[in-house]
Amino acid sequence: MRVAVYSGSFDPITKGHVDIIKRAAKLTDKLIVAVLNNVNKKYMFSLDEREEMVSELFKDVSNIEVKSFEGLLVNFMRENRANLIIRGLRAVSDYEYELTMAFANSEISDEEIETIFLPAAKQYMYLSSTVVREVALNRGKLSPYLDKYVEEKVLAKLSSGGVK
Ligand code: ADP
Repeated sequence: MRVAVYSGSFDPITKGHVDIIKRAAKLTDKLIVAVLNNVNKKYMFSLDEREEMVSELFKDVSNIEVKSFEGLLVNFMRENRANLIIRGLRAVSDYEYELTMAFANSEISDEEIETIFLPAAKQYMYLSSTVVREVALNRGKLSPYLDKYVEEKVLAKLSSGGVK
């Protein structure tokens, strides 16, 4: 069975992430969407909230599982018997970082883990969670970037004063 992992912060999950997840799920037997908890990072949404949003969007897709992780992706993959990393590749800015990570993950897994890059969809090439958070904070239109469910969560977060 081919088990792949697509990891990210998903703070929040954007239409660009959703597109990669749908395409990746078609290429693998099982796709684990791994929501990263970096203890040194300040997020807009808690780990539980980020995980919940991803789970809600893919609750009807049988070969997608949503989990959270901390620390090395390679360790998480071993625990979950996965050997394929899926990454989305946007415009040139992603290239260097993504290649560095791919080489490192290959090396520290004794070449057991392979990375596959999927090109970002044209319309999401310049979309990032950072852009979404910036637009949200300034009360801009979010529908081009977020699924309805996620947009509602962002609006609720803003109106609860959860974000300054
Ligand atoms: P972001 O950079 O938006 O904060 P993450 O750190 O959660 O996103 O990224 C996780 C993965 O998703 C990375 O492989 C990243 O390149 C990919 N990704 C992020 N945004 C997009 C997008 N708009 N289209 C395709 N892939 C994307």
